[in-house]
Amino acid sequence: MGKIRPCTKAENIFMRPRLLVFLLLSLRDIEINEFEWYLRDHLFKQSGKGRQQFNKGSLASEITSLYLRYRNSTSQHMNEMINVVVGNLILRQVLNEFEDSLGLTSRLSRLQCSKCFYISYLGNNETRNCLRCSSEELHDFPKKK
Ligand SMILES: [Zn+2]
Repeated sequence: MGKIRPCTKAENIFMRPRLLVFLLLSLRDIEINEFEWYLRDHLFKQSGKGRQQFNKGSLASEITSLYLRYRNSTSQHMNEMINVVVGNLILRQVLNEFEDSLGLTSRLSRLQCSKCFYISYLGNNETRNCLRCSSEELHDFPKKK
């Protein structure tokens, strides 16, 4: 009776600022990776309709109107994530940028990993590795008969 309750592990973590910063950065990575998946999904579906050009300024509203996941996101937050992910896709030569216009350098392939079942959308300029576990064992999704 009357004993001081020892700190639980979770409480300890939040008392260590460095660890907290690390934790928040990791959460941001997860959020960015998730957003990249949705953006690739959007580019894949649009390219299937023959569209190769995108306007960087209107991507945020396209994605919030198409995906329930982002329905309540602010356009400022969306544009921050778009800047990071589009930068990454340009580095990976999936997109090229001319002024405010983004172009797909090739159509994207929708591939499923045989190991972790993750769906990756990959451009022709990217190495054919699962974007989650890096496995090379990918097949078309859905499987071709
Ligand atoms: Zn995988």
